[in-house]
Amino acid sequence: MDFSNFDFVIVGAGSAGCVLANRLTECGRYKVLLLEGGDSDAQFWIKVPLGYAINVTNPALNWGYHTAPDAGLKGRSISWPRGKVIGGSGSINAMAYVRGLAHDYDDWAQSGAQGWDWDSVKTVYERIETHSELTPTGRQTRGDGPVVVSDLSDQMSAFSDHFLKAAQDANYPVISDMNAPDVDGIGYYRSTVRNGRRWSSADAFLRPAERRANLCVIRNAMVDRLMSENGKITGVAFHRGAQHQQARARKEVIVCAGAINSPKLLQLSGIGPADLLRRHGVEIVHDVPQVGRGLQDHLAVSYQFQTNRATLNNTLGRTVGKLYAGAKYVFTRKGPLAVPVNQVGGFVRSDPDREVPDMQLYFNPVSYGESASGKTVVDPSAGYQISAQPCRPTSLGSIEIASASPQDAPIINPQSLSTEDDKASAIRAGRTLQRFAKTASLQAVTTAAKAPDLMVLDDAALLDDFQDRAKTVYHPTCTCRMGRDRGDSVLDARLRVHGVAGLRVVDASAFPNITSGNTNAPTMMLAMRAADLILEDSL
Ligand SMILES: Cc1cc2nc3c(=O)[nH]c(=O)nc-3n(C[C@H](O)[C@H](O)[C@H](O)COP(=O)(O)OP(=O)(O)OC[C@H]3O[C@@H](n4cnc5c(N)ncnc54)[C@H](O)[C@@H]3O)c2cc1C
Repeated sequence: MDFSNFDFVIVGAGSAGCVLANRLTECGRYKVLLLEGGDSDAQFWIKVPLGYAINVTNPALNWGYHTAPDAGLKGRSISWPRGKVIGGSGSINAMAYVRGLAHDYDDWAQSGAQGWDWDSVKTVYERIETHSELTPTGRQTRGDGPVVVSDLSDQMSAFSDHFLKAAQDANYPVISDMNAPDVDGIGYYRSTVRNGRRWSSADAFLRPAERRANLCVIRNAMVDRLMSENGKITGVAFHRGAQHQQARARKEVIVCAGAINSPKLLQLSGIGPADLLRRHGVEIVHDVPQVGRGLQDHLAVSYQFQTNRATLNNTLGRTVGKLYAGAKYVFTRKGPLAVPVNQVGGFVRSDPDREVPDMQLYFNPVSYGESASGKTVVDPSAGYQISAQPCRPTSLGSIEIASASPQDAPIINPQSLSTEDDKASAIRAGRTLQRFAKTASLQAVTTAAKAPDLMVLDDAALLDDFQDRAKTVYHPTCTCRMGRDRGDSVLDARLRVHGVAGLRVVDASAFPNITSGNTNAPTMMLAMRAADLILEDSL
């Protein structure tokens, strides 16, 4: 195949890459090559919403990264799954659709990403979304964007109502719209699920574009390096199995490899901090000191309880129940398998004096543990889990190549809890969950706490427990962030790498700061607006 005559080469068919592949081929003027390191997403457990629990540990779908020992988490090295498949992490994620809070984006604009303030991005969200909502008169849709965002509360466990009652007991508002700009309270999560199946960016954007003659998608194509001539990026070097090839981009290479692999690819290609590149013998093409710096992620801590009411454990923790749920799903696309695990949650203030909500909560009507190999094992008796995630951590980590070889995993150093502010947030996370756990509504249905018992922990013990057990919520961002100049960022507000012609980065790494909530919706929104900018600049 001739790889020399594409206008755009996109690296990575993940949440962002699929949006760009669609938008850049829409007008028919440009030829686009999309290179994806993983294989097809046409797999049963990717499509089944509850299959998330299986996919997350499936090495065939996953880059399988682990962090370096993290001092703030008592030296623990944590698994950081990233999707390696068409649809990227959006094909293995938990499908919660959360825009985040308005001030997240106003902060983007303030840090130099002009045009990314809330009022601007709100209209982009409206363009990408179709809401499938339950109303007293039945299911109704709103909007006509490709991303289907569903209210699945009719399929949820009846137990989830106890979480809403607990919110009322604790004086938190019960909300109907998780994606309102001023969201402040607890409600049912909205999910990227359509007709009982995962609806990823690949389903929403790539599938319709694949029919176009001006889009070429190559799977199992690992991009090893960006190619440059006189400092301008001209294409990529990639391999499929033992076959090494090069592809040229007449206009631009757009890196959409995600918050870990995008900075890795730039660094391997000589675009990064000069001292790091020198250390690994990589020829410096452009000294861009912030590539791989400023990593932000969300951590969450979870507590589980046993209950005297039926939860998903009564079905999914028993063989007969599993068979019943499986048959129901296969024949009706409904039931427990048709709903992601995060059913209820939202954004709250950990104390009333906070200016904005600072905790995201997740309430799941199921309890589970982990096998020695890290697989999820549902408890046989009824239980539930409550989790809290500080919204806007201030610790900054890094991604650095470990060598000049594309085969080597990068070093992920999250630097978790390296600020006093983040340590205080960890304590407030536990305190917020205690407020819920002691409500009359949850106390009435709780028989025992699974260890550790949240209710007996004081501030010091809450922090200690967070350090012992908190886990990533899988939201790495900001490692090639937008900003003012190469002193504070990697990209300008049009997602062009500072001082480098022919190259943009468009994915979660481009966030100037992490948003308060889950990162898939913001990534698709970012790619949608990025496409507008790229098309404008290409005229
Ligand atoms: C387990 C898990 C659960 C999550 N749950 C949620 C959730 O419920 N809600 C939510 O909003 N967010 C969630 N997220 C986060 C969200 O899915 C990500 O923020 C989002 O998908 C990031 O999109 P991206 O385009 O930046 O990267 P990705 O979607 O990861 O895409 C990157 C793509 O590039 C490919 N690639 C990388 N390197 C190369 C290379 N060298 N050559 C070729 N291809 C390459 C990858 O294989 C991948 O397909 C979750 C993530 C995970 C992993």
